[in-house]
Amino acid sequence: MNGPKAAGFAGRLSRRTLGRMPSSIVFIDVEDIDTALVTDRFPGVTLLPGDASEEEIVKACAAADVVSTFVTVPFRRPLLDKLPRLKLLCTRSVGVDHIDAPACAERGIVVCHVPDYGAHVIAEHVFALLLSAVRRIPEGHERVKAGRFDWRGLRGMALKGKTIGIVGTGRIGRNVAKIAHGFGMTLLGYDLFPNAALEIEMGLRYVPLEELLSHSDVVTLHAPATKENHHLLDAAAFKKMKRKSVLVNTARGTLVDHDALLAALEGNGGPEWAVLDVLEDERARNANAALIAHPRVVVTPHVAFYTDDSALAMYEECFASIEEWQGGKEPRNAIKV
Ligand code: NAD
Repeated sequence: MNGPKAAGFAGRLSRRTLGRMPSSIVFIDVEDIDTALVTDRFPGVTLLPGDASEEEIVKACAAADVVSTFVTVPFRRPLLDKLPRLKLLCTRSVGVDHIDAPACAERGIVVCHVPDYGAHVIAEHVFALLLSAVRRIPEGHERVKAGRFDWRGLRGMALKGKTIGIVGTGRIGRNVAKIAHGFGMTLLGYDLFPNAALEIEMGLRYVPLEELLSHSDVVTLHAPATKENHHLLDAAAFKKMKRKSVLVNTARGTLVDHDALLAALEGNGGPEWAVLDVLEDERARNANAALIAHPRVVVTPHVAFYTDDSALAMYEECFASIEEWQGGKEPRNAIKV
């Protein structure tokens, strides 16, 4: 998820607010393993589960100056209308799509996010997904669990010498390039703003999208979801891909036309495999059922961001924003509206 840039703060922070200590802090959607981290830092904090209803959120946050939320719990205008005391809203995510930032600005609510919790963790997940498919790990595991310790029929695809096409060579794409280079892969890239350093340091070659699709054994998506790139990979794009290729999507589900992907997997072009951490509508289980059930599809539940060090960084950055705000300073992670 693309995050906004940190921004000027003083103009949006009233004199009344500066230096004021919060009377109440609420953290929403904290996993059990992180509870102590939060309660040690802010004794007296109220914790609210991620599946709390709007009514429960309003009740728990009615007296709160500070709320820390996550992408799973949106803060839109109707909810903000019911929280007149709210002054600081911190999301422990890069993206702020789930927060009505203009409505917050109107109400003088400062919104903070976590600009970077480590792009390497998403890049590592790309290779976890990719290797699980090309080395047939889910099938092998199922086979062994069923008592059949036999490698026949599970021939894999080596990565060394294969071509990877990286669509979007920003923070995550760059980390993917680094790992792919380590595997001895040939690197192709497509980006609206090419990065010359990648060409020099890793021999990545920028090419038009069509060329990337038709020459890559692995296509991995790292562009943000925008109106312009909705269904960037559609039926026509899949026709250009190699049949024996793998699509990796850890960016956003809307970049891919899932009906066209299902048709492509069935032989109407490439890829042969799809490994996905994101889906078009992640809560619509039925709409995605055929894709999820496909034998050459591996899906993880939007988990690429979620590791030990990234989770800690999300909390630490959020704590820093709260403490800076409590001290009357401009939180380093305040967003520009
Ligand atoms: P970034 O802003 O650093 O890089 C994005 C790159 O994509 C930029 O270089 C940009 O020029 C390029 N780009 C934009 N539109 C493009 C297009 N139509 N075609 C080709 N390139 C295009 O972002 P990032 O931090 O690398 O994140 C990439 C995406 O990964 C995010 O936008 C988000 O959707 C996704 N993401 C997923 C997870 C997860 O857990 N699965 C976690 C974080 C981010």
